[in-house]
Amino acid sequence: MGRLLALAAALIAGVLIAWLGEQPPRPAPASAPATAFSAERAMAEVRAIGSVPHPIGSAANHAVRDQLLARMSALGLQPQVHRGVGVYDRQRGPDLAIGGGDVENLVGILPGRDRAAPAVALMAHYDSVPGSPGAADDAAGVATALETMRAIAARGVPARDVVVLLTDGEEAGLLGAEAFFARDPLARHVGFVFNMEARGAAGRVQMFQTGLNNGASVDLFERTAPDPHAASLTGYIYATMPNDTDFTVSRKRGVAGLNYAFVGHQFEYHSPTSTPATLDVGTLQDMGQQVLATARDLAFARALPAKTPDKVYGQTLGGLLLAYPPAVGWLVLAACAGLIALGVVRARRLEAFPWSDVARGAAAGLFAVLGACAVLHFARLATGAPFGYLEQRFLLAQADRWETALFLLGLGFLIFAAAELARGRRFIALVPLAAGLGSCALGGLDKVGLGLGAVAALLALAAYGRPVSRAGAWTGVLALGLAIGIAAQLTTPIAANVIAWPLALASVAAAASTLSARRGHAALAVVALLAALGLGWAGGLAHTAYLSLDLPELLGLPLLICAVLLWPLAQPDEGAPPARLVGPALVILGLGALVAVRVNQPYDARHPKATYVGYQLDQDAGRAWRFSNAPVSGPWTRQALTADGGGIVKLSHWAFRQPVEAAPAPFLQEPAPTIELARLPDGALRLHAAPPPGGRTLLLLLNCDTPAVIEQLSGAPEHLALPPGRDVAVRWAAAPQGFDVMLRPGGPGRLRVGYVAVLESWPAGAKPLPRRPPDRMAWDTSDSTWLTGRRSFSW
Ligand SMILES: [Zn+2]
Repeated sequence: MGRLLALAAALIAGVLIAWLGEQPPRPAPASAPATAFSAERAMAEVRAIGSVPHPIGSAANHAVRDQLLARMSALGLQPQVHRGVGVYDRQRGPDLAIGGGDVENLVGILPGRDRAAPAVALMAHYDSVPGSPGAADDAAGVATALETMRAIAARGVPARDVVVLLTDGEEAGLLGAEAFFARDPLARHVGFVFNMEARGAAGRVQMFQTGLNNGASVDLFERTAPDPHAASLTGYIYATMPNDTDFTVSRKRGVAGLNYAFVGHQFEYHSPTSTPATLDVGTLQDMGQQVLATARDLAFARALPAKTPDKVYGQTLGGLLLAYPPAVGWLVLAACAGLIALGVVRARRLEAFPWSDVARGAAAGLFAVLGACAVLHFARLATGAPFGYLEQRFLLAQADRWETALFLLGLGFLIFAAAELARGRRFIALVPLAAGLGSCALGGLDKVGLGLGAVAALLALAAYGRPVSRAGAWTGVLALGLAIGIAAQLTTPIAANVIAWPLALASVAAAASTLSARRGHAALAVVALLAALGLGWAGGLAHTAYLSLDLPELLGLPLLICAVLLWPLAQPDEGAPPARLVGPALVILGLGALVAVRVNQPYDARHPKATYVGYQLDQDAGRAWRFSNAPVSGPWTRQALTADGGGIVKLSHWAFRQPVEAAPAPFLQEPAPTIELARLPDGALRLHAAPPPGGRTLLLLLNCDTPAVIEQLSGAPEHLALPPGRDVAVRWAAAPQGFDVMLRPGGPGRLRVGYVAVLESWPAGAKPLPRRPPDRMAWDTSDSTWLTGRRSFSW
């Protein structure tokens, strides 16, 4: 019974520690001292620039630009607009995409005593995506940059220049940052960048990425940041993902720096609901406090951090950051091994356990983690929400409920697996197997779900079968953690601390409690206390990241951490009830929460469902369609599509990722974009394209039947081979006067050009859209007119 209480206490305290660790600080009032960061003051900026959507090139973005210039002038920064062209080219799988846009970066400088010293830049983007006011992404970053600058200036003249760099067109492909760092002479003056971003609207701010060779930058951060949230793991993971921020551009060019973001309440990300009212003011305070402390230190420092080898880093409980060279990870693991060995030697004197118990424990630990992953994989399918960016919003709209279900199912299964090892009955193999088969029943042959379930079941057959001693089993689970820690240290030493640190806590608990073989409350209390600390730490790690990735299986890592810490509390003596029933009870509660997620209708006026309806005019064929570019259509969308009396069919077009629902509509005359090809005297070709009046963006699909090289995009140098016969998408933003693609063909040939010009209004001559109910919202460029067609040129 004491063990059961210890388990309950560890779980409750762990959840509490994790919850407390995720709370942002209290916002400082507008009356805070001039040298402090005040989120209340910064909120005035957020309200001024983050209340309506303002994508690059829009009239609203020009208004935001002018407001920011006025604000920067008031701060004495003598702001300037740096106009330029930002471009990108990227290859994702077989798809080649290029693009660009005309950008207006806003630059303000607080002069330092040494004007020649490398400057510190505070960077954020002032454009939003279409359809979202972007109060969090990235008005919060812009407001942080300005309030930070104000607070630095209030302290006096810094040692070096401090630059506020507000980029344009980040959402259209990091265009402003590219234009700045590739072609703006001021870029050479910048020696350190603070970038501020958002993928949500709440929660703690994470310093999630650094520049290359970050050792000294991490030392600076460790010394200056108050209560930081950071882990070298996130930087490692982020580098492997296709996601980008402006920081990607400066980092690639070798500029040192730190990148900050918050990811709580991801429903708000790129959503019309990202208004000043839904931005957590405490989160803004967190961002500002962190950035100001470190940026001010650097602004007044004699030198910027040098480039030194990368360090492993991560926050610990109590707001401390721990950082060390990757090789030190071996020492941590060696200490873990020593402590575990000490526990084993002493435990075997108290109660001899066969070594086979250790092997069974290791297999049971792995079973618990993989089995839990199989259960979580099934749970994701069982929500009924399809996978995808818009599809998963069904879960983001009820993120707390969904997180509760995952927590109960994952931990419940883990505790179930540990408790059952005391009895050793093999029927437990059926649980992950049933989850795997259930996954197949829900979504057809599911190799991941079935694989996880089958491997877990095989592990269960090996591990279970007879009762296993607790000390032996825990030794096995710790050995498993140590083996995974060593594998991580060998392959990704920069992130191995994620396992090594909680393993160190568990190893201390193992040595202190003689692998829980020692009876008595003191030993139990030590194990429970260390487990609570580790759980609280792992809880912070587990919170939110899997949400946007839509991969609940990622929770396997925090579950492994829970296994090494919780096992001795979760495996009761002889598997007696009621301890044995805790795990199944939690799993049943988790299934209840899962059913609630599935049957709940999460959309309401606060969390409306995203809808996208457009009016396509095929200007070649003289036909028109009302179409829905959102994955799941409801009654409102169907009403909007069929308003002209047509029936719904599937419509394909190269601009749609997959066929969309559409219904025929009357064709309307609209001016077409200008697309011209000119042959230059030196044999090069200039493709000039401009959207019709009112168009902000233009998308082209080029297909050249002879080898050619793109040499310039609106004056920006490029060198990109166009494979003959392959489609290449070109997206241009903010181009009222159009853009040029300079091509050099290998010989005579033909260029086919498809176009989509999006006019961000419903056609004047069309029947208006029905009113949306309060629980539906227009997403991105919804309610637009899409002009489509083709051109062909020969030379
Ligand atoms: Zn952003």
